[in-house]
Amino acid sequence: MKSCIFCKMPESEIARRIYQDRVCNVILNRYPVEKGHILVISKKHYLDMLSTPDSVISHMFKVAKRFGKIDKRKMKSMGMDIGVNVGGAGSIRHFHIHILPRYSNRMLHFASVKTRRNEIRKDEVKELTRLLKL
Ligand SMILES: [Zn+2]
Repeated sequence: MKSCIFCKMPESEIARRIYQDRVCNVILNRYPVEKGHILVISKKHYLDMLSTPDSVISHMFKVAKRFGKIDKRKMKSMGMDIGVNVGGAGSIRHFHIHILPRYSNRMLHFASVKTRRNEIRKDEVKELTRLLKL
């Protein structure tokens, strides 16, 4: 889909990619809610999880589990949220899974990307790519 950022995968997104296979890409979130926030994104365009084939969902959750383990171990987080958005404001309409490390019990702000969350810095991309790559 031409207008979809995850279908286009511009250089800026590819620069934050830490893994890919025939089904999905794993990238560092451009606007992390917490350090180590990564996304597993289908290569093919599916609007959301409800319209994604079971085989693709299954594969991507296996990849999410793998990176969840790496993320938890390397980032030394308390735990994490692994989840998907289906519709809703601010969500990119292309199936992806969030892997979000948690470092405390505080409430997280997912909304208002540009006002509340800072864009990931280049040095963080470098550090996290080294830590989290397979
Ligand atoms: Zn797309």
